[in-house]
Amino acid sequence: MPIGRMSSPLVTGEEMSSWLDPIEADAERVRLSAGIRPEVAVPDLEAAFGALGLTVATRPLGRGRPEAVYTGHGVALLNPSGLPARTRFVAAHLLAHHLYGDEPHVEREVERDLERPGCDDRQRRASGFAARFLVGREALWARAPARITAEAVLRLAAEFQVGYEVMLRRLRDTGLIEPEGWSEMDDVRVRWPTSSGHNGVGRHARPPHPGR
Ligand SMILES: [Zn+2]
Repeated sequence: MPIGRMSSPLVTGEEMSSWLDPIEADAERVRLSAGIRPEVAVPDLEAAFGALGLTVATRPLGRGRPEAVYTGHGVALLNPSGLPARTRFVAAHLLAHHLYGDEPHVEREVERDLERPGCDDRQRRASGFAARFLVGREALWARAPARITAEAVLRLAAEFQVGYEVMLRRLRDTGLIEPEGWSEMDDVRVRWPTSSGHNGVGRHARPPHPGR
């Protein structure tokens, strides 16, 4: 596999940003070796799997069932039962296990591995890789507006075809918003009208299409 050596950092602890930096480098190298340009927002996962030697079989198992099974030896089973963005995240998570040579296991709610206290380090690494692979740093920098609002996070999440929480984390990872200095709820209060307008926030609201 022409991707060079994966950094394979497995450091325990809650400080994600410090130990995930090598994974950023891994994800960027893997994107390049799969022919995905740094500025591309939506990598073609099937093409990447083909280039990187991972076979993913899809089988709808229904909601409430495992999201995927990583069987090892370059093969995985994917259950595409959720939203497309979530399924793409699980698929990229499986790619990470393949590239890092992880042990076979069953997948459940892998997007939450980025936040879950006490999560297995290999799961966190795979989900950290998935976020970086799907939302390339350069692609994000090229598209992010100067002022990040909750609306902008939603728009970017849709453009990159990832979940809102994944996009929020990537904006923090890449320095586009401060880790603690931005509250989407404050922003929502200011920018978005509520239906009732009587709950104390409606007076700050404005029409969704100002100037029209
Ligand atoms: Zn996993």
